[in-house]
Amino acid sequence: MIQSGAPTTQPNALEAVRELCSQFEDLPPEAIFKEDMLRRGIAFQEAALRVAASFKLKSYFIFSFDMRPLKDLDQEENLRAPEEIALIDGPSQFRRTIVSVRINPDSPYEVVVDPKNEEKLILTCCSEHVSNVELQKAPPHYGHSLENGKPLTEMVPTIEWGYLVYLTVYRKCQYFGFKEECRFCDINENFRQQKAAGRPYNTVKEVDEIIEALEILNDLDKEKVTGAYTITGGSVTKKLRGKNEAEFYLQYAEAIEKKFPQRWLSKVVMQALPSDDLKRFKDAGVQIYHPNYEVWDKRLFSLICPGKEDYIGRDEWMRRIVEAGKIFGPSRVIPNFVGGIETAPPYGFDTVDEALKSTGEGLDYFMSQGITPRFTTWCPEPLSVLGKDNGPAPLEYHAGLLRLWRDTLVRYQLPAPPGYGNPGVGNAVFSVSAFMDVIDPKTPLG
Ligand code: SF4
Repeated sequence: MIQSGAPTTQPNALEAVRELCSQFEDLPPEAIFKEDMLRRGIAFQEAALRVAASFKLKSYFIFSFDMRPLKDLDQEENLRAPEEIALIDGPSQFRRTIVSVRINPDSPYEVVVDPKNEEKLILTCCSEHVSNVELQKAPPHYGHSLENGKPLTEMVPTIEWGYLVYLTVYRKCQYFGFKEECRFCDINENFRQQKAAGRPYNTVKEVDEIIEALEILNDLDKEKVTGAYTITGGSVTKKLRGKNEAEFYLQYAEAIEKKFPQRWLSKVVMQALPSDDLKRFKDAGVQIYHPNYEVWDKRLFSLICPGKEDYIGRDEWMRRIVEAGKIFGPSRVIPNFVGGIETAPPYGFDTVDEALKSTGEGLDYFMSQGITPRFTTWCPEPLSVLGKDNGPAPLEYHAGLLRLWRDTLVRYQLPAPPGYGNPGVGNAVFSVSAFMDVIDPKTPLG
């Protein structure tokens, strides 16, 4: 099986990433560092957490995206670490690069206080100063609550440097247990650990609560920093509050678009649903659909997503993605996959080349039809089946994937995927992988 990443404390991690930057000269070095930080996580010095505490904090918007369980975070990083950091300037002369924070106290990447100015932060790798770090102020609606007392940080958190309102309206998934849950996913376990730690998670957010929260957000968002929202949550295989999956998520889209028509770009993450269901979302005003396929390879899909394989089936899933393109328009169907799980033992490919070849087949299949998949960088969360026993995918895989994804996009002359803000290094805000950072900014926006 593939060597899935070296120990996270290896002393030459910085040399390794610099070496890879020189092998991938056609990619921005910022993007390669970003992928390395996403796959390895970030440590925080105690003093840096004190500085971060007055900025926008990690909201745990759906999964944990951490590399340690909450109970093992000795500095209470879960309550004090920022949602995202911006890498900028410093010795590497980085153009502004937004990185989602995945906490890992063992990471070679550490955010520390600048020794020359204790109010400023810097990023180190193996104790060497790599870049300066900026944090985002908490948006105006953070600190407010609904009339019933529920905090807006839980109801309507924002990510992507404030661009995307993330509406996890169902915080669990009905794919449950070893035979059904996707093996990289910790949604149900994260729900349990967050509740146990006292975070005000709600299993289901009520429609009227979401509307009330968006009203407050919208009133306070004078500069219109938020540009899109995503309705998301776990899969509904049976019924939830008497509704099937389409009916359950549709009620939110309908209510939001009725109250705030076209105020935001409207996006929905759901399973690959039949066309008749999807037409109702389109009619409600939803513009972008994410039927996430997670992994392309047929064998890996059945092993890593056993619930999806049993309930819908891999071939039907892929067929429905293409069908969805006829409803929303191909460029507005953007299925996600989890970049890196192709390599994870015990099921994954033996070599980076084989993993990339398989992923590339999927990109080719969809992009040749005008549909642009995108990826999040796999975070081996310890409460997930695959993350419990594995380190991250090799950085060579992630760098190769960035090149492959960008080259396939260019080959089919496709626009930058809509709904992610501006593309290009220095401009991109999408924080859980670097696909937007590697697009040539001259590529037209979709
Ligand atoms: S469908 Fe899979 S990835 Fe999505 S929430 Fe359920 S278990 Fe997690």
